[in-house]
Amino acid sequence: MIRFENVSKQYPAGTHAVKSLNFDIKEGEFFVLIGPSGCGKTTTLKLINRLHELTTGYIYIDGKKISEYDIHELRWNIGYVLQQIALFPHMSIEENIAVVPELRKWSKDTIRKRVDELLELVGLEPDTYRDRKPKELSGGQQQRIGVIRALAADPQIILMDEPFSALDPISREKLQDDLLQLKERIKKTIVFVTHDIQEALKLGDRICVMQDGEIVQIGTPEEITLKP
Ligand code: ADP
Ligand code: ADP
Repeated sequence: MIRFENVSKQYPAGTHAVKSLNFDIKEGEFFVLIGPSGCGKTTTLKLINRLHELTTGYIYIDGKKISEYDIHELRWNIGYVLQQIALFPHMSIEENIAVVPELRKWSKDTIRKRVDELLELVGLEPDTYRDRKPKELSGGQQQRIGVIRALAADPQIILMDEPFSALDPISREKLQDDLLQLKERIKKTIVFVTHDIQEALKLGDRICVMQDGEIVQIGTPEEITLKP
């Protein structure tokens, strides 16, 4: 599904953020990138949707180099969830979720159905939440909206960059459990960045441990030896 072949990224300032990465992510896999701050996790993630351009090597999605995709086509096919979800404050929850479907010119009816289906998927009653503004939701609820917004136009791949790290421990655990359930139902390829080993072991089908821009271990939670 996603293949990294000798991928390096050097920022203009000179930082060699990732060096010669080689790995494959399978279709439907929950793949976790873990490692200390500054080890290159976010850079690796942003190379996939071309928020950053790689310096050397190739990344393939479905056997095609990402440089050969139309950039909009590529990004539409990749949902992105950030730590700071940044919902548009002046827009309703429905409008926030509908941003990408609107860009893709889905009909109003199709969008309404999709929004309701997604709200139900994360246990938020559509009639109650559809018209609210983001500030009328708790932090955990807003983060749920961030997750379903990334799913809205049914992308094949979801990138998640420390999506739960700003939450209190109880909300975090709840959202982790929800994501595990969601994963079974949506069958997406997920690339998930965290620095929390417990979170990685709980969620990941496979875990890639990074250090100084390199992969030091890669395997299932059972195979990983760098345990707390
Ligand atoms: P992580 O996500 O693991 O914290 P990053 O991928 O954000 O690591 O950063 C890897 C390295 O690249 C760090 O040394 C960081 O300072 C550097 N870096 C990240 N983004 C940029 C940028 N836009 N310009 C220059 N250096 C950057
Ligand atoms: P993070 O460290 O979480 O990636 P940053 O604060 O470094 O966040 O910036 C967010 C992203 O925006 C980074 O990937 C960075 O490279 C990019 N960025 C920051 N400033 C610029 C800029 N002037 N032009 C283009 N991209 C930028």
